[in-house]
Amino acid sequence: MYLYNSATHKKEEFQTHTPGRVEMYTCGPTVYHFAHIGNLRSYIMEDVLEKFLRYSGYEVNRVMNITDVGHLSSDADTGEDKMLKGARREHKTVMEIAQYYTDAFFSDCEKLHIKRPDVVQPATGCVKEYIDIVSRLLEKGKAYVAGGNVYFDTSTLDRYYVFNDHNEEDLAVGVREGVEEDPNKRNKNDFVLWFTKSKFEDQALKWDSPWGVGYPGWHIECSGISMKYNGEYLDIHCGGVDNAFPHHTNEIAQSESVLGHPWCSHWFHVAHLNTSSGKMSKSKGEFLTVSLLEEKGYDPLAYRYFCLQSHYRKALVFTYENLDNAVAAYSKLVTRIAGLTPGGEVEQAVFDAAREKFLQVMGNDLNTSMGVTSLFDVLKLKTNDATKLALIADFDRVLSLDLMAKAEAKREEQKKAQSAKSEGGCTVTGEGDPAIDALVLQRYEAKKAKNFAEADRIREELKAQGIEIIDTKDGASWKRV
Ligand SMILES: [Zn+2]
Repeated sequence: MYLYNSATHKKEEFQTHTPGRVEMYTCGPTVYHFAHIGNLRSYIMEDVLEKFLRYSGYEVNRVMNITDVGHLSSDADTGEDKMLKGARREHKTVMEIAQYYTDAFFSDCEKLHIKRPDVVQPATGCVKEYIDIVSRLLEKGKAYVAGGNVYFDTSTLDRYYVFNDHNEEDLAVGVREGVEEDPNKRNKNDFVLWFTKSKFEDQALKWDSPWGVGYPGWHIECSGISMKYNGEYLDIHCGGVDNAFPHHTNEIAQSESVLGHPWCSHWFHVAHLNTSSGKMSKSKGEFLTVSLLEEKGYDPLAYRYFCLQSHYRKALVFTYENLDNAVAAYSKLVTRIAGLTPGGEVEQAVFDAAREKFLQVMGNDLNTSMGVTSLFDVLKLKTNDATKLALIADFDRVLSLDLMAKAEAKREEQKKAQSAKSEGGCTVTGEGDPAIDALVLQRYEAKKAKNFAEADRIREELKAQGIEIIDTKDGASWKRV
C-alpha cells in the first residue's frame, strides 16, 4: 500500500515496525460540544483507512484518546479551557459534560458506520503516565520549570517544524495576532507539559504532581496514551490537518525526546471540510451536526458517501446542493444493487480479478473516490449477479455504506409497493403513485384513440421524471429508473 506521509511530504510504501501488525493512533475529540460534520469527515476517512488495512491482511491495534482535560481554546496553551467553557454554558460539571459529549460522539460515529477504536482512553485516566514522561524529560534536560509550570524546551531539538517548510516566523505561536506571549517561555515555541499556575481559578480537575497540584497540557496526553497502548513504536498517527501544528509537532518533540529514538513513521492528515463561506466551525454560521442532517431528512450514510467521493487530502466544500447530489448517486447505486438477484454461484476468477483492482486503487493513497467507482464498475461486469453481489459485499467491508442491507430493504419495499389499478380495461402496475397512475392511464386512452402524438408526449413527460413505462398485455406497468 502507498500512502502520503505528511512528515516526509511524499507518497511512500507503507511499512510497519512489526511485520503484519499496525500500531495506529488517532487524536480523539475534545468533548465539550457536539462534533461538527467537518470533524467527523476526519473520523470517516480514518475509519476507511483502518478497515482497508485490515482488509489488506494487517492486524490493527487502533487507539484513540478522549480529551476531557487540558485543551485550551487556542491550541497554543492560551485562551479559555474548552471543558470549563462547555460546563459553564450548560450549568453542568466538567465530568458530566465530558460523559454527555463522549456518548454523543460515539452515537454520531455509529450512525456514520465508524468503527469504535480498539482502545478508547479518556485523558483524565492516564495522569500517572504523563507525570512519568514529564519527569523523564526534566531528568534529560529537555524540559524546565518556570513560574510554576513545566515547559518543553524546543531549543534542545535538532528539528522542530516537521510537517511544513513554512517560514518559522509565520508559525511562531508567540507572534500570532491576538495571542499574548507567556513570559515564562524561554523559546517562542516552548509549550506547557504540566500546568500548576492556571489562570482559571475554577479549574475543576487537578492532580498532585512533583511540581505541585495542577493538570497536564493537551499535547502530552496523546504521547502518554499512545506509548501506553501502542508501545514505543507507532506506525501511523492520524488526525485532522489542523492538528499537525502545533499539536502533532509537539507530540513528536516530547515523544522522541523521552524515547531517544524515532517514534512514529507515518502521519496521515485529513484536509478540512469547508462551507462556501470558509472553514467550518462550531461558532460561525449553521452548526452542522449529524443530528441536524437527520432532522433535515438526510441519511447519515449519504454524508459518508459524500465524503468518500473525495480524496482525504483535498479540502471538500459542503453545500446542501453537493450533499443532494451525493444522496442521488447513493440512492441510484442502492437501486441498481437491489435489481440484482441474490443466489447462485460466484465466478471465482472474476471475483479475484475485481478484488485485486480494488486493492490497487484503494492502496494508492486511499483513493476512496475510485473505491466508490469500483462499485459501479462491478455492476457493469460481464458476470452473474451472485458474483456482483459478492464483490459489492466485499468492498463494502471497507467502504461501510451498508449496501447489502439497504438493497435488501429496497427489494422488500418494491415488492410491497407493487400495486395494481384497473380502469376502463387497463391495468396499471407500479408503486402506487396516483398521479403517475393517472398519466399512464391517460396514455393508454390516447393510444386506444390512435392519438400517438399524445401517447408519446406522456411517455416523454414521465421519462423526464425518471419513470419508465412498460406495456403489458392488459395495460402498462411503470417503474423508477
Ligand atoms: Zn492528539
